Order: sequence, then structure tokens, then C-alpha cells
Amino acid sequence: MSDLSHLRADFPILHQQVAGHPLVYFDSAASSQKPRQVIDSLVHYYEHDNANVHRGLHELSNRSTTNFENVRKKVASFIGAASDEEIIFTRGTTEGVNLVANVWANQFLKPGDEVVITGMEHHSNLVPWQLATQRSGATLKYVPVLDDGTLDMAALDELLAGPVKLIACVHISNSLGTKNPVQEICAKAKARGITTFIDGAQAVGHVPVNVREIGCDFYAFSGHKMCAPTGIGALYARAEVMDQMQPWHGGGEMIETVTMERSTYKSGPARFEAGTPDIAGVIGLGAAIDYLERVGLEAIQEHGRELTTYALEKLVALPGLRLLGPPIGVDRGSLAAFTLACAHTHDLVEFANTQGLALRGGHHCTQPLMKRFKAPGTSRASFYFYNTKAEVDRMIDILQQAIAFFS
Ligand code: PMP
Repeated sequence: MSDLSHLRADFPILHQQVAGHPLVYFDSAASSQKPRQVIDSLVHYYEHDNANVHRGLHELSNRSTTNFENVRKKVASFIGAASDEEIIFTRGTTEGVNLVANVWANQFLKPGDEVVITGMEHHSNLVPWQLATQRSGATLKYVPVLDDGTLDMAALDELLAGPVKLIACVHISNSLGTKNPVQEICAKAKARGITTFIDGAQAVGHVPVNVREIGCDFYAFSGHKMCAPTGIGALYARAEVMDQMQPWHGGGEMIETVTMERSTYKSGPARFEAGTPDIAGVIGLGAAIDYLERVGLEAIQEHGRELTTYALEKLVALPGLRLLGPPIGVDRGSLAAFTLACAHTHDLVEFANTQGLALRGGHHCTQPLMKRFKAPGTSRASFYFYNTKAEVDRMIDILQQAIAFFS
């Protein structure tokens, strides 16, 4: 395995005891930890450059604006967009979905239209489409999930033959780890003139992402899952699609001219960024991208694959453990979701916490998926490049203790 353990020194938070044990943080799918370089970028920004962007003509505002706009370029290149004009800063994936499910959907959905999503969507890529279809009189349909945690692609073909206007699909499932064939899905949709939205919350910063290769119209992600601060993310909107979209929030910085009767609006991402943005968050996102590029996305992906396979092989050997998602050997995201016959997931996660192990338990914001797999919830261990095999061994040891305790 590519040894990235020296990078742990960059993450101050990892070097602490919880309940008298060394912390094992296996909850990066919920939110990743932040390296010193990202934390320092925030301090540096507030100590040296802090001023509002796009407004002043003074030195600090100019500096702040240049740094802010440089990050837009960095994000564009990080995810393979054609131009920084295709990058809208958001609070995260949820806001990206809501922007499209409000603006685009209000303009283009009408009664009789269909929106297709999948049975493994996070609530943030589901509820906004429920709201949008309810508002417009369109119908929401779901691509079923097969027993092995993959999408039913034959059913997808049938669904796309209907009067579908948009398909929204998660790139990597936060509950199963499934890596969906987003490129294939977008090609099928494009052939029928269907608009495509990809939820990249679990993909960006974990695997190399190129929106032009994927061929999607929209791609949303969150900074906090890829070493950046909370409260910042981005939405990629292909230029031709963005150009057709009306504004969402009204306010400062998104206008060209304002009279008492009406306003005209800026073109490009500024039209969707009303008000003072999370400038420090954007600076932190830029520092996170710099950091991840230095480590290398290929190395991060490889590390994730190896550590996850190592964990899965040990997990399935535990008595009474049921693994959800694709079988071992199938390429998947860096997480393992499971149930134990002897313990409720909340009891298990609380037990793990007494040993310094941070797991996540519950429905992971995918209630329809939990129903599909007849699981009230699962325990989830999710990994990032700062995790090690020794930590996986520690998890297995704790789970063995838990099995002895609860049986
Ligand atoms: N989609 C997926 C697949 C996720 O894992 C998450 C976060 N758990 C989200 C969307 C929502 O992201 P955020 O809360 O950062 O907006």
C-alpha cells in the first residue's frame, strides 16, 4: 500500500486520546479532518488579507479578490471544467442541488415531465427533487438498486425512454460505497437530450474527477469532505446550461443595474452568488486543493482502495456481520457499511466510542435505501488517506470485543 502515514503529522486533531485510547477517526465520509496547511491558510487570511471581495479599490480588497478568484480557477482545473466561469461557490453539495432544483427546475419542468434519480441518493439529492417535481407537476422516478448495491442499468434504460428532463445520480454512495458508472449514465442521457446532475460529495478529493470526461451538465461537491473548511463547496454548471439559468437569490454582487422597477443581472457564476460569500472558506478550499494535489489524487485513490479491501476482508470474517454494498473485489469508495446480528447499530457505535473509535451509525440520510435493504440503520467505517492498516486492526479488535459483550 502506498504509505501515506507520514501525512498524519499534518493533522493536529488526529493526535489525541478519546476515552483514554488513541483516537481512530473512521468518519471522514461525514466530514474529513483538516491539515495544518488549511488551518494556517484561514489564520493567514484573517491576519493579512481580510476584506470584502469585488467591492473595494483598496489594497486588501484587491488582494482578497485576487486570492478568491484564483481559487475558482483552481477548482475548475481540479475537476476538469473548461473554465472558471463554470464554477459557482456554494455552501456545499446540498446548496448545489437546491440551486439547480429551484432555478433550473422552475424554468424547465412542466406537468407530464419526469425527473429520474436513483434509489441510493442522499436525502440532499432526493428531497429537493421531490419539492421541484411537486411544484411543477412533474413526476419523480427512481432507478432501482440491485442486491449487490449497484444500479439496475436495464431499468435505467427503460426509465430514460420516458419523457425525462433530468437525471440526478450520486457518483459514490455514502451508504454503500458503490461507484456508479456516471460517464455511461451521462452518455445515455445526453443521447436523449436529458440534463444530468451528479452528486460528487463522496468523490471529489478521493478519486480523480473530470467533469468533461464524465460529460455531465452539473456536478456538486462539498469542501469539508476533502480537507477544506465547513460551509464551502462548489457547483459546476456547464457554460451553455448556466447561461440559460435565471438568478436564484437576489442581492448585492449578482446585478448589473438596479432601478426601482427592475434589475439586470451579471452573467456567469456571479449571477448565483448574491451577498458576501464565505471568503475565508474559499481560501481554505484553495489550500485544501493545493494539499491534495501535492499528495496526488492517484495515490489517495490507491490508498483508499487498498485500505478498504483490507478492512472488508477482516470485517466479513466476523461472526454475524452483514456487509452492505458491492462485494469485495468490486471497485468502490473508501467505506464499509455493515450490521452486526448481536447489537443495534447505535449500541455498537456507542461501544466503539468508549474505545476511542469514531464510527457512524444510523440511516446516513438515505432512508429509502435502508428500507430497500431492510436495515433500520448500519454502522459505517469510512477512510481517508490519513488512516492506516493498524487503525483497521484496532477497529476489528474493538468489534470483536463488542461481539463478546453483546452476545
Ligand atoms: N451527497 C452525499 C453522497 C453525501 O455523502 C453528503 C454528505 N453526507 C451530501 C450529499 C450532502 O453534503 P453536505 O451536507 O456537505 O451538503
